[in-house]
Amino acid sequence: MILENSQENWAQFLEFIAERSSASEYQNWFAPIRCIKLTSEEVILEVPNVFVQEYLLQNYKKELCLFLPLKGPDEPSIRFVISEQKKLEPATKLPSPPETPDNDAAKLNTFYTFENFIEGPNNQFVKSAALGVAERPGKSYNPLFIHGGVGLGKTHLLHAVGHHIRAHHKKNRIHCITTEEFINDLVDNLRSKTIDKMKRFYRSLDVLLIDDIQFLQNRLNFEDEICNTFESLLNQSKQIIITSDKPPSQLKLSERMVARMEWGLVANIGIPDLETRVAILQHKASLKGFQIPSSVAFVIAEHIFQNVRQLEGALNRLAAYCRLMNMPVTEEIAHKLLSEMLLVPKSKKLSVDDIIKSVCSVFEIRSTDLKSSSRSKDIAFPRQVAMYLAKELIQDSLIKISSSFGGKTHSTLLHAWKKIHEQLSQDETLQRQVQMIRKNLETR
Ligand code: ADP
Ligand code: MG
Repeated sequence: MILENSQENWAQFLEFIAERSSASEYQNWFAPIRCIKLTSEEVILEVPNVFVQEYLLQNYKKELCLFLPLKGPDEPSIRFVISEQKKLEPATKLPSPPETPDNDAAKLNTFYTFENFIEGPNNQFVKSAALGVAERPGKSYNPLFIHGGVGLGKTHLLHAVGHHIRAHHKKNRIHCITTEEFINDLVDNLRSKTIDKMKRFYRSLDVLLIDDIQFLQNRLNFEDEICNTFESLLNQSKQIIITSDKPPSQLKLSERMVARMEWGLVANIGIPDLETRVAILQHKASLKGFQIPSSVAFVIAEHIFQNVRQLEGALNRLAAYCRLMNMPVTEEIAHKLLSEMLLVPKSKKLSVDDIIKSVCSVFEIRSTDLKSSSRSKDIAFPRQVAMYLAKELIQDSLIKISSSFGGKTHSTLLHAWKKIHEQLSQDETLQRQVQMIRKNLETR
């Protein structure tokens, strides 16, 4: 006899385990198990391999007995089957997208959900835009274009939309892909002459989630195909969400492509403020089953401010260190680990020439040109950037600094500083270039 609400007992077992195991343990061992059938006599579980079966029996027999039918005292009545898919797939098979999109094939990171996305003043807008799209795919902003710096949660939000649609609009066919993967797919399909199949696949989607579109820059051969795909989906009111490290207007892509991307809503994801960073740290810690006093979270969040991924890195180090050494989590240990992480060797004093060299390598020009009197924009602009950085980073008189630029005056230097300073507040490309130069200088 099949139990009433047969899947319920299994679901209750999973819930019980989820509360008592770490998130990663749960993801690795429990999430891949499927309960195929549950009767009063036995339960049939599909597992990806025999290790999962052994793990379950060795570690959770008692708990299994609480929820599932028994075949003897302390002996759960379970029949295991190893999932077919894994057995049949030869290792050498080339990956090719299925013609009918399968929602389970949308590779979404389990942790990247809206519930796990901490909101603050700098990401509130983009989060509610993403949620709006997830609630009514194809009917609100289309496409939704999310841009912002590295490690600020773009991929997280993209996947959160995927999870939400998967849960609430079960019939929608979702595909989540990075731009790199899309290009690779395209190359494979061109090579194997299956491009029509690929086109059919993409054009039959309800939701396309595409990450890191900046990688399409300088890959002009592929732009048309992506653009056609976008147009076809947008014309059918199918939802597209795109992420990028820059806004559309600053991407080196065709006007047609930029126009398509600007068609819907362009939203920026900003750097989280201190309070939000603390909340993120505490949330991430709780997901790992790790307790972190708020004073310690503040210490970390005060020192790491530009990148949430880095924030997580610090937390992981702290957790590993304290667990390994069996020590309580204190501010002192946090300071020690942070100083190791953020240590910048200050062996050599920074010179104007160091700055010029670094600016030249980022802008791909020669130092002699930068120091010349050329007014061509390609030279004059990097020169101004170098002047800006020199004034920012070098403690010396303006006259002395400006003379290192082939005898420019200090008012030229001040003018350059002011111009770049103002431009930096609006120009994300420049922000990144300056960031890159600063990084080069730190590791010189
Ligand atoms: P990006 O794609 O912008 O480079 P990711 O989405 O990969 O960044 O985010 C990097 C890490 O930071 C992920 O682990 C993500 O979960 C986390 N993260 C970023 N922003 C938030 C947030 N607001 N709340 C919770 N976690 C966040
Ligand atoms: Mg990303």
